Amino acid sequence: MSKFKISLLLFVFNLGFSQNESLKTEIWEPVPEKIDAYNFNKAPSDAIVLFDGSDFSSWIGQYSNKTPEWKINKDGSMTVINGTGGIKTKKSFGSVQLHIEWKTNETTENYKPQQRSNSGIFLQQNYELQVLDSYENPTYVNGQAGSIYKQHIPLVNSSKKPGAWQSFDIVFNAPVFKNNKLVKPGYFTVFQNGVLIQNNVEIKGTTTNVGPSSYKSHGKLPLVLQDHPKIPVNFRNIWIRELQTKD
Ligand code: MG
Repeated sequence: MSKFKISLLLFVFNLGFSQNESLKTEIWEPVPEKIDAYNFNKAPSDAIVLFDGSDFSSWIGQYSNKTPEWKINKDGSMTVINGTGGIKTKKSFGSVQLHIEWKTNETTENYKPQQRSNSGIFLQQNYELQVLDSYENPTYVNGQAGSIYKQHIPLVNSSKKPGAWQSFDIVFNAPVFKNNKLVKPGYFTVFQNGVLIQNNVEIKGTTTNVGPSSYKSHGKLPLVLQDHPKIPVNFRNIWIRELQTKD
């Protein structure tokens, strides 16, 4: 037998062997549920739509517990009405995937950096992903748009100009508490306008403006959108998918 034929036989033998071996590490079940993906205007089929421009039926005032006093616009967005307080979802959540779109205000003159369309997306009403005009608006970097407020600086600044719609796609793994003690911290992964800006960063506790962060034990809690002076921001197209975790 020629060298070539021997090599060919060995090759075919090894191929058969490795194919059999490869079967051992194939997993066929459980099959991931088939869903309809989103196309930037519409939520995926298994998401909870929190705001589609029609009403505030999924929301109440953060402290008033009454219908939010924010404004719903004809283009399907909402505008924060400063001084009326933040809004929170009626439903409480654990770990989630969240999609939210937001637009900073074109009026930027004579306002301090942290007053330019400042808001915040508070997962479990404690952990803030900062919303701010950060296009050309230098501020402390752990407080710019896309920061986990005063904890994690975004990897890059993928902010758009004031007046342009932007998106956050967030994976939030909720902290786990047992017997009022933290057994696993929370984690954020965030894409701003499709760009990864937070890569599985560990949450150090409730995000605060003053002093160090610490955790306080809690279960599922609402999502909160912040009312922060002075120039308002708009939100639209908000949907959420609850994530099953093994904890
Ligand atoms: Mg804020």
